[in-house]
Amino acid sequence: MQLAIIAGGKGTRLRSRIGDLPKPLAPVAGKPLLQHQIEMAAAQGVREIVVLTGYGAAAIREFCGDGSRWGVSFQFHEETTPLGTAGCVLEALDLLADEFIVLYGDTMLDIDLHRFLQYHRQTEADVTLLAHPNDHPQDSDLLAVDERGIVRTILPYPHAEGEWLENLVNAAAYVLTKPLLAAYRGRFRSGDFAKQLFPLMLSEGHRIAAYRSTEYIKDAGTPERLDKVEADFLAGRVAQGRGARPAVFFDRDGTLTASTALVIGLDQLELLPGAAAAVRAANRAGYLAVLVTNQPVIARGDCTVAELRILHNKLETLLGREGAYLDQIYYCPHHPHGGYPGERPELKIECACRKPQPGMILQAADELGIDLARSWMVGDSTMDILTAHNAGIRSALVATGNGGADGRYQAEPTFRTDSAATAVARILS
Ligand SMILES: [Zn+2]
Repeated sequence: MQLAIIAGGKGTRLRSRIGDLPKPLAPVAGKPLLQHQIEMAAAQGVREIVVLTGYGAAAIREFCGDGSRWGVSFQFHEETTPLGTAGCVLEALDLLADEFIVLYGDTMLDIDLHRFLQYHRQTEADVTLLAHPNDHPQDSDLLAVDERGIVRTILPYPHAEGEWLENLVNAAAYVLTKPLLAAYRGRFRSGDFAKQLFPLMLSEGHRIAAYRSTEYIKDAGTPERLDKVEADFLAGRVAQGRGARPAVFFDRDGTLTASTALVIGLDQLELLPGAAAAVRAANRAGYLAVLVTNQPVIARGDCTVAELRILHNKLETLLGREGAYLDQIYYCPHHPHGGYPGERPELKIECACRKPQPGMILQAADELGIDLARSWMVGDSTMDILTAHNAGIRSALVATGNGGADGRYQAEPTFRTDSAATAVARILS
């Protein structure tokens, strides 16, 4: 596997911290960002790294040396004039392999490069972007993807009020292929991947996949962000993205959102007080925040998958406005009993995912790498509590929504509390 690192950033906004040093040499816990990246790659068996330089090229070359101290070999390309992220990769194309991963030199990250590449190959995409939700989607460029994670369009911010978009952001790590880039070489000289080249590729029918990851990757291009990634590194939050993490599983209706009606119209979906604070606290403490909700309305034909996605986009948007995000949303579209007009017979089944079955939690544990022994379910019904029991995790029953008064199942929570916010506060304490 070959890695390319775009290391030409000038770091104007970091001037107060790093003087004339180029951005990739900004120290995090006593080591340059670039070194963190090189060590992460070398630990995964990467041996070939192409470093794309511009500003501060000599300092970066000198720092890298011949690579022997990490067991890697470097090749360098210095851009003749600032060309933007895509422009500099195109200019260096002769040094690059048929398939390679690109990272930005001003990010702190710890990702499984092999799994990223594997995903790219499986989806047979032309390009694959690492993507994740963030805590400020309203001022981020967002990816609109289809159900299989193929990008339909990149939506630049600002986003219109009342435009309900999925919280999915390009995290600035890509799998790229040389033959595709070669086709742009003559006609695209300078510009960035996210702002120019990817939109152009999409408009020309190329397939860009979004690889949704919960691994750590953050830009460190301002003093505040540099402090944040350093604090995260020292607290072990950078490396933990690749190990098994604890999760808080949230029920939706009556726990995070106000309505308990079976079919919720877009206008009716509102967050309960403290719901965003609950999710945000889980985010900040390094817990994954995962929504698990039964949506038999899909099987009954009362609501389409597309309509449900818009509803969840609204939920993500409302959470995002308060600095909170869900790492993943799981819903069960099934329903076991037939006899509804307009129902979808293929979804009228006894499934393993409809709560109180633990299927969604077990699937999340498998897909997201969750440590169930340290995880919790927060819900407002006995069904949620029984789901937790069935998955072997602890649970908090909240007084909002049903408040446990549904009486459908005999199941005792680990504790009872007022709301999702107080539940998470107690879980974290
Ligand atoms: Zn199901």
